[in-house]
Amino acid sequence: MTTLTGDWLGDQEAKPAPGPLRRVQALINTVDRESGIDRLAAVADAAPWLLDNGLLAADGAALDAADVELVVTVREALRAMVVHNTGAPDPDPAAIAPLRDIAADVAFRADLDDAGLVTLAPVGHTVRDRLGALLLIVSDAQRDGTWSYLKACANDDCQWAFYDRSRNHGGTWCDMATCGNKLKNRDFRARRRGT
Ligand SMILES: [Zn+2]
Repeated sequence: MTTLTGDWLGDQEAKPAPGPLRRVQALINTVDRESGIDRLAAVADAAPWLLDNGLLAADGAALDAADVELVVTVREALRAMVVHNTGAPDPDPAAIAPLRDIAADVAFRADLDDAGLVTLAPVGHTVRDRLGALLLIVSDAQRDGTWSYLKACANDDCQWAFYDRSRNHGGTWCDMATCGNKLKNRDFRARRRGT
């Protein structure tokens, strides 16, 4: 059992996504795969994070283990999608199935404000509905072109989500100094063993 102390790495993202897409990135980065520390591992830890990040309607709203499990499966679906953005083949249909279920289930409503601005939002306020709001963010990002720059680190042990602001959008690592060089060293050792 790991406990969460101090600041979470994802709270000071080195390569933050713009606008609401940052919320998708933040969810993907609720687990540090290398250390295994997962801030959604326990309902008590997950509740404040879900509240701060708009996935739980209100403080004290009912949250059970099944809700948190759903959030985690959606997190991994989103990760599979950003792994694809790094150049991998299409995500495994089983990996994105939880998000596809939400897309099919959650009811959305359009509102028109006095200035004529149209906004879409889920009708309900359950965790499932609120996860549906992330789909709207992904949809907007896919239209404005920012989606394809939200990538997963190419180190399979890491897969930290980062926003690729490099000029040619060829970024591969969450951080060159850690994952990039580590992998290069590993490849180098593998090559040496192979000779
Ligand atoms: Zn990495």
